Amino acid sequence: MIDTNIFIFACIQMLGIQKPVEIRLLSNNKNKTTKDFAAWAETRNRKGVIYKHVIFTNLAENIESKYNLHDVIAHELVHSIMLETGKHKDKRHHDKSFQAICTILEKGLKDIGMPVGKLYDPVIDNS
Ligand SMILES: [Zn+2]
Repeated sequence: MIDTNIFIFACIQMLGIQKPVEIRLLSNNKNKTTKDFAAWAETRNRKGVIYKHVIFTNLAENIESKYNLHDVIAHELVHSIMLETGKHKDKRHHDKSFQAICTILEKGLKDIGMPVGKLYDPVIDNS
């Protein structure tokens, strides 16, 4: 079984994320907008500059959808690097650049013996 600490560090290193990443595992999320989301990425900013990333994931939603927690975290970390590098697009946040980074990360993780599932799924990640 892959250690989650090492897995997260490997993703952050490969993606080149500079700012600290906080990951919140929600067991019970009643927030109207986010209760049905498997996960999402946000930034915390000071004077318009990102000082940290916060990734949220709904544990119950993941179990129901059979999402693997590592895959979910890796996917959200791709959003984090897009946000950090100013490449994130609100309208099309799973654009070609996003997909390309997912492919590179999948390969990199596989190469170090930490294979993940598809980090981008055109059916699910349709926006
Ligand atoms: Zn996404």
